[in-house]
Amino acid sequence: MISVEQALEKILSYVDVLGEDERPILDCLGQVLAEDIYSPINVPPLDNSAMDGYAIRSIDTQGVSHQSPRLLRVIDTVTAGSIPRCEVKPGTAIRIMTGAPIPKGADSVVRFEDTDEPQRKGNITEVGILREVKVSSHIRRAGEDIAQGSIALRQGTVIRPSEIGVLASLGRSMVKVIRRPVVAILATGDELVDITQPLPPGKIYNSNTYSVAALVMRYGGVPKIIGIALDSEDSLVAKLRMALDSDMLITTGGVSMGDYDVVKDILAREGEILFWQVRMKPGKPLAFGRIKGIPHLGLPGNPVSSMITFELFARPAIFKMMGKKNLAKPIIEAIVENPVVNNDGRRIFARAVVEKRDGQYFARLTGSQGSGVLTSMTLANGLVIVPEDKAGVAAGDTVQVMMLDWNEEI
Ligand code: AMP
Ligand code: MG
Repeated sequence: MISVEQALEKILSYVDVLGEDERPILDCLGQVLAEDIYSPINVPPLDNSAMDGYAIRSIDTQGVSHQSPRLLRVIDTVTAGSIPRCEVKPGTAIRIMTGAPIPKGADSVVRFEDTDEPQRKGNITEVGILREVKVSSHIRRAGEDIAQGSIALRQGTVIRPSEIGVLASLGRSMVKVIRRPVVAILATGDELVDITQPLPPGKIYNSNTYSVAALVMRYGGVPKIIGIALDSEDSLVAKLRMALDSDMLITTGGVSMGDYDVVKDILAREGEILFWQVRMKPGKPLAFGRIKGIPHLGLPGNPVSSMITFELFARPAIFKMMGKKNLAKPIIEAIVENPVVNNDGRRIFARAVVEKRDGQYFARLTGSQGSGVLTSMTLANGLVIVPEDKAGVAAGDTVQVMMLDWNEEI
C-alpha cells in the first residue's frame, strides 16, 4: 500500500496544465491568467481630487488659520467626469468634487472641512480658507495606480475579485486564462437512486455525485454528471464512454473488496490501473488509473471517504490542470481535545471542529467517525491528521489539522 504522498505524486505526474481560453472577466474568478496584462492607459487618467473641496494655489493659503482666514473668489465648480472650464488664478478657487480633474493653475485641494463653506448658504461666490495647505494636498496623480505601458498583472496570477477590478479599470472585458477542467462524475452501485426519483425499498439516494460535483465547482472545475452505473460490466462500460471527452473522470464506489466491485476489473481491462489502495483512513480503497488517456480517480463509495479523498487528491489535480502552483490545503497546528487511536498503521484524517480560544486553535472531534456518516462532514471544518507511524494521539496533544473551511462559526 502506498502513502498519501506517493499517491498524490503519482496522480500529479499524470495530469497536465490545460490550454488557454479567452473569457469574459467575470467568468474567470479563481482561474489563472495566461497573459501578462500591460496597461494601455494611465489609471487614473488625469490628476484628480481625492476630496470634496476647493482647488486652489497653495501659496494663497500661506499663514491662514481659523482666526485669520483668507477669502478666495469662487469662479466655478468642477464635478467628477467633467473637464474644468477655467483656470485657478491668484486669489481664486474652484469648487471641486472627489474624482474631478484638477483645473489648470491649481496645485492643491483644500477640503470643505477646512473652509467656511459649511457655514455659508445659497450661491457661494467666495469662500474662507481656514488652514494652510501644502503643495499637492489631496491630489491623486495621473497614472498613480497604474502607469500607461506598465505591467498591471502577471501571467500565472490567480484571478480574485481584486484582479477582476484591475482588469475592469483598464477597460478589459475579455482575458486569456487557463481553461477550467471538465470533470466527468460517475456513481456506481445497484443500490443507488437518483434524487429526482421516489426511493424504493432497499435503495439509497446517490449523494456522492452531488457532493463531488459541488467540490469540483468549488475548486474551479466544470462537473459533467454522467449519472449512475449499475454494478455490471455492460452498464459501466456504456457509461464510461460518456466520460471520454472530459479532462478527468471521477467514479465513486466499486473499488473496495466486495463481490460487486467491478470498477477495478473494467479499468484494468479498458485502461490501466496505476495504483489501488492508499495507507489512509478513511479512503483506503482509492484507485487511480487512465482510461483512453484520461486520468481516472476511483473514489471509494462511502460518502465521507469520497469527499476526503477528493480534497486530498482530486483538488490538487484540478488545481494543477488550472495552472495553479499552490496545490496544498492549509494545515494549522491545534490542540486536540479527544484521543484518536491508530491501530492499523494508516494516516488518519479525523473530522473535527477547529475553534480559536485565547489565541490558540483547538480541535474537537465531531463524534462518530464512520465513513458513512455524511452529516459529520457538515459539522466539521477541519481534519485532524494522525500520522501512520503513531499509535494515536492523546487529548491535549498538539496535532496538525488540514482546514477544509476557514469558517470557524459552523
Ligand atoms: P462501495 O465502495 O461501492 O463498496 O460503497 C461503499 C458504501 O458507500 C456502500 O454503503 C454504498 O452504498 C455507499 N455508496 C456508494 N456509492 C454511493 C453514492 N453515490 N451515494 C451514496 N452512498 C454511496
Ligand atoms: Mg458499490
